[in-house]
Amino acid sequence: AAAPDWAAVRTDFPLLTREVNGKPLIYLDSANTGQKPASVIEAVDDFYRRHNANVSRAVHVLGTEATDAYEGARRKLAAFLNVRADELVLCSGTTFALNLVAYSWALPQLKAGDAIVLTRMEHHANIVPWQIVAQRTGATIKVAELTDSGELDLDALYALLTPEVRVLAMTHVSNVLGTVNPVREICREARKRGIVTVIDGSQAAPHRTLDVASIGCDFYAITGHKMAGPTGTGVLWARRDLLASMPPFLGGGEMIKEVRFDGTVYNDAPHRFEAGTPNIAGFVGLGAAVDYLGGLGMDHVEAREKELLEHATEALSQVEGLRIFGAAPEKAAVVSFLVEGAHAHDLATLLDLEGVAIRSGQHCAHPLMQKLGVAATCRASFAFYNTHEEVDAFVAALRKVRMLLA
Ligand code: PMP
Repeated sequence: AAAPDWAAVRTDFPLLTREVNGKPLIYLDSANTGQKPASVIEAVDDFYRRHNANVSRAVHVLGTEATDAYEGARRKLAAFLNVRADELVLCSGTTFALNLVAYSWALPQLKAGDAIVLTRMEHHANIVPWQIVAQRTGATIKVAELTDSGELDLDALYALLTPEVRVLAMTHVSNVLGTVNPVREICREARKRGIVTVIDGSQAAPHRTLDVASIGCDFYAITGHKMAGPTGTGVLWARRDLLASMPPFLGGGEMIKEVRFDGTVYNDAPHRFEAGTPNIAGFVGLGAAVDYLGGLGMDHVEAREKELLEHATEALSQVEGLRIFGAAPEKAAVVSFLVEGAHAHDLATLLDLEGVAIRSGQHCAHPLMQKLGVAATCRASFAFYNTHEEVDAFVAALRKVRMLLA
């Protein structure tokens, strides 16, 4: 299919017509959370106006409609990821998904003497749950380091994969450096050694065609709000045999077959992991988001964002005293940078006055900041709905505020 008309696509996003501080909004914080097309907002609205009921509990028409909508979203997500629907646990986001793996799979499996391998570029959501597992089981954590361009040092990583390693947890795409990791190759190496792989796909799912089945990992986590969907939605894909072997993480309604005071029979996966009333409207919205992204074509999305990234990188590299962190050849549309003599938060605050929304701070990646030797960075992140004019306006605004801080 032909590439979409990107100017028309942009008009699908009501929020992008806003002004902030008297200036047209230039939203460059999509790695933090993405904006939503009208079709997603309307799907959530329509659910509450016309179909709202709880799932799996009522025989009445609304109950059936709500259940069909929720399970329909699971099927759409399965097609989007190229996996089976009954291997998907619907949850509140990547943070929940990774904690589910840590608590339900790792805690019962790991023991003293085992090791967990993480990478230097992980988000806290893929570090802290593993620290909890390590503390409780006596397992140790080893960290794969990066090269100067912000890529995983693969030789060093493979050297870490010694016999005591049980699990390798890593991000597909870095939220700070933009680095796209060669997860398929890495998972192949891990599998040869019998190591379970957990991939954080938060920053991959919004930007590229995903074929989770072909990656060869054991667990893959995504979060809905970064991929045009509502906040509080996410998905864990797990290999069926692993999922079937995992005890529940939360107990309650929906996750059981029969409850008696002398013993309860749990439901099958994935429902065993979905205790309580889920975020039904959220998943209706995420289903609409997947339809929307599918309509654009993820290959087109990737190509569009690559163009925006190249444009931004080129323009930014001409700003005096500006340093970009992360120069991987395979990179998502995320640019972390600092300008000599200017604090990251000051730059972001002044840019906001110009209508430009970027993120400044540590991006939930303290260990990476420690390695880079900086207190914080600025991060501009782009999505397909951004324009080349916005890239130019952002860089012009940056030049202007830099003068104020110099
Ligand atoms: N991992 C990565 C790489 C992320 O960028 C984020 C979101 N900043 C998360 C995990 C956490 O996602 P959520 O807060 O939606 O659970």
